[in-house]
Amino acid sequence: MYLGDATWPEAGVELAETSTALVPIGSTEQHGPHLPLSTDHVIAEGLARAAADPAGVVCTPTVNVGVSPHHRQFHGTLSVDAPVFRDYIESLSRSLVYQGVDRIVYVNAHGGNVQHLREVGRRLHDDGTAYAIEWMWDESIPDLVGSLFEQNGPHAGPKETSMVWHLADLVRADQLEAAREDGCPDITAIETTRNGARIFYDAIENTHNGGFGDPTDASAEKGERLFEAATEQLVALAEWLDAQPWETLGPKPHVRERKRSGRSRSNRKR
Ligand SMILES: [Zn+2]
Repeated sequence: MYLGDATWPEAGVELAETSTALVPIGSTEQHGPHLPLSTDHVIAEGLARAAADPAGVVCTPTVNVGVSPHHRQFHGTLSVDAPVFRDYIESLSRSLVYQGVDRIVYVNAHGGNVQHLREVGRRLHDDGTAYAIEWMWDESIPDLVGSLFEQNGPHAGPKETSMVWHLADLVRADQLEAAREDGCPDITAIETTRNGARIFYDAIENTHNGGFGDPTDASAEKGERLFEAATEQLVALAEWLDAQPWETLGPKPHVRERKRSGRSRSNRKR
């Protein structure tokens, strides 16, 4: 069920039957000259809304702006500071817990959010509030992604282009050639690390137009295959999570001190 479309009595019925919520999280940031700024949140929302009903779990409204300082040089990119983002997601998650949810999947479509979502999951886990995990769609189907495209690119490449083509009529097809030629079609050809250290901060250091990979390899048909496969993974994950007994998800207690008989710490002190 999509929470935003429900009345409160309807939400009450649904929340009595599931312990799990999907929270779609994206970004509003440049995706080259051929994709909209909404790319990541269109993908996250599409997947979460498609998976919720088959999995029998709740889908919340989408968090549309994430942590994107590394794209700030391009027009229209919006970003929030990482600590603010973490606090916001944690607060939203605690609100869900108050409504009867104790397990959450952050359905994420933006690499810049990953470490922060995992940090929030850690906070909620450590005090036993909820079991919240980060899920990145393309990492659930690496073999399919790898088999469909020659030059993937981590950002605005053919996989994201195909997904947007399938989900929304927002791909600028007449810009695909330019996206490849003025971007960074082959990420193996650029130097991003030196002696084990990452030596860039912003996308613009490695791509003139913000794109990576070869988006001319994209199609709506490939997008449909990616979408169906990733949705299937998300449904399976949500079903698994919802079925787990809480005891297996909550934090484990501290190990006990091993005491030798007659020589416990208190005995030694005396
Ligand atoms: Zn993206």
